[in-house]
Amino acid sequence: MSPPTEPKLPAGWDLVVGLEVHVELDTATKLFCGCINRFGAEPNTNVCPTCLGLPGSLPVINERAVELAMILGRALGCQVNRSVMARKNYFYPDMPKDFQTTQYDQPTNSDGQLVLPDGFVVGIERAHIEEDTGKSVHVGRSGRINQAVYSLIDYNRAGVPLVEIVSKPDIRTIDQARNFVDELRAILVVTGVSDARMEEGSLRIDANVSVRPEGLAELRTRCEIKNINSLRSLGRAIAYEANRQIDLYEDGSAPQQQTRHWDENTSRTTPGRSKEDADDYRYFQEPDLVPLVPSPATIAAIDETMPQLPVARRAALVAATGADSVAARILVERAQDALALEAVAAGAEPNKVLKRLVNDLAVDDWSNLDATALAELIKMESAGALSASQAKQVLADLVESGGTPQTYVKRRGFEVVDTSELKSLLEQLVGDNPSEWKRFCAGDQVERKKMQGFFTGQIMKATRGKADGKMVAELLNNAALVG
Ligand code: ZN
Ligand code: MN
Repeated sequence: MSPPTEPKLPAGWDLVVGLEVHVELDTATKLFCGCINRFGAEPNTNVCPTCLGLPGSLPVINERAVELAMILGRALGCQVNRSVMARKNYFYPDMPKDFQTTQYDQPTNSDGQLVLPDGFVVGIERAHIEEDTGKSVHVGRSGRINQAVYSLIDYNRAGVPLVEIVSKPDIRTIDQARNFVDELRAILVVTGVSDARMEEGSLRIDANVSVRPEGLAELRTRCEIKNINSLRSLGRAIAYEANRQIDLYEDGSAPQQQTRHWDENTSRTTPGRSKEDADDYRYFQEPDLVPLVPSPATIAAIDETMPQLPVARRAALVAATGADSVAARILVERAQDALALEAVAAGAEPNKVLKRLVNDLAVDDWSNLDATALAELIKMESAGALSASQAKQVLADLVESGGTPQTYVKRRGFEVVDTSELKSLLEQLVGDNPSEWKRFCAGDQVERKKMQGFFTGQIMKATRGKADGKMVAELLNNAALVG
């Protein structure tokens, strides 16, 4: 669970990073048409004249998409503005209209911030609404277009609603960059704005990276790294790119402003197009859509129904259970914090609850497990009626089939053998094995250990493993003192 270590930059240089994160919104349909918004469908089945960009088709904006964008904006402390959609003109094969409908100088959300778990604040420049493009698959050597034998295009993704979150260039370390994405992802999930699955492309990161001599305040030429598809790649791509730029400066040269691709296989960034200016896109206001003008009442309603955000949920869990920051982060991310809080409120030992959940509840579906049953289980463990490994097995039963822990304790034969039962069993064993008992009582350390193993084994055999090993050892030693 420990995060990858921070790759080091050469001394004397500071890192400057801003992130642009594209997030697919969790709507039923696309942004401007009624086509289904779903990952993984047969290619080109969720398409219509509008999202294929056919002549004469007109966009109708998806109200829910706008609402989700505003929810995210408020969760990031943004100002929600009167906004207009704009056309960003460019040619790309997976962009059938030859323009992307997005927002330009009047975005829905602006001027927010994201607070990292350690309190570091990253400014949010804007979080604007736009449509996704189709998806190209380049078949052939590298999977990149330049060496492809042929390319396939899937328009299912064309027109899927996105929010693009643009951070200010406030990020100074690779850990901060990773924490930013992690925290953003947690916010997206609890607000229901997006499932934020990097592996399915519903959260995609571009990183703007530059370096400057330590202590200088200037912003130097940056490169935008595309194609980063995991937190691990994010760290490696930033480290590679920063070192590449530092090498250029140290050779008396300088980086060119450009987009660069992160290549997972070679662990390098390679140049893409030289970065164009906004002018090149010939942005203009989308004539087929009216401005979005949320009323103050709409924004107030969003604020009122905002779910508790991860930072507050972690704080609540820490306050009530004494969880450390790692456990708090894991349980809130898995949405198991409410379960932990309820179990603790029902009298279960906080430490054990946290340990069980963190270590043994990394499952997709735990809906069968309720807090009362969990609390009972933990209480049995605390009382010594169940060993840790037995508690773990019963927890798995509860997750699988629900019910109460008692049912499974009985079914698995986990009822503990009580002390008096063990005592009489031991007396019988001593009577049956007098020479072994003598060796235990009078032997040297090695001999004693060997005979303790013998008697413990016999007791475990007789109780079919139900005896508590610690208790057996205690009884043996007490009996040896007496007899
Ligand atoms: Zn469509
Ligand atoms: Mn974008």
